[in-house]
Amino acid sequence: MKLIMLGAPGAGKGTQAKMIAAKYQIPHISTGDIFRSNIKNGTELGRKAKEYMDQGLLVPDELTVDLVIDRLAQDDCQKGYILDGFPRTIPQAEALTAALAKRGEKMDFAIDVDVPDENIVSRMSGRRACTGCGATYHIVHNPSKKGELCEVCGEPLVLRDDDKPETVQKRLSVYHEQTQPLIEYYGGQGILRTVDGAQPMDDVFAAITKILEA
Ligand code: ADP
Ligand code: ADP
Ligand code: ZN
Repeated sequence: MKLIMLGAPGAGKGTQAKMIAAKYQIPHISTGDIFRSNIKNGTELGRKAKEYMDQGLLVPDELTVDLVIDRLAQDDCQKGYILDGFPRTIPQAEALTAALAKRGEKMDFAIDVDVPDENIVSRMSGRRACTGCGATYHIVHNPSKKGELCEVCGEPLVLRDDDKPETVQKRLSVYHEQTQPLIEYYGGQGILRTVDGAQPMDDVFAAITKILEA
């Protein structure tokens, strides 16, 4: 099963992608997580990506596309995978379609987690990310049982720099300009499915599994 998660920043793509990956035993590939781990490890890619991420801008396609296409060629992707945060531009989507077509493959579904802009700001200002393992929480909707520490690994939780309100507005406008056109792109390929992402997490998950098992 090959899936794409679409949706605004903070819509719940990562939350759902982790649950789907666990249920169907497929790798969860998050470009945001890949960039953040490069930043943490002080790589050249991390240094370049950070300049854009801190401003709420997209990392250029030249730094993003090959990274993902190479990742998809690894052994653990044979049975499928779930892409979270990629593609985010029409050129990224076209590059993905072309790379798969070369191997006679295609994506199964692009799932749009639809959440109105009004809900996004509170989702992002309440998000807490683990500095150790990347797990995400929400101070109201999904608090850590260990307070300010991660339930999984015990490391401290932080508000991501790019989740501060000034950057969130920028990211939302970048989403509408550069990423939202993918909804039409995958609609045209006949693989778009939309779920109401404003529901509680478990209801969103139930809606997605219903689509995958239909
Ligand atoms: P969110 O889950 O809140 O949407 P991500 O973790 O997916 O955030 O992404 C964080 C940042 O990483 C983005 O704002 C962008 O700067 C960069 N990024 C992630 N994926 C991509 C991509 N496919 N193309 C360009 N930039 C990306
Ligand atoms: P994305 O990957 O799309 O940026 P996340 O999965 O990180 O989004 O979710 C953003 C924030 O909203 C997190 O703090 C998460 O715990 C919370 N969240 C995710 N899904 C829901 C939901 N259905 N209802 C309420 N809060 C949610
Ligand atoms: Zn952790």
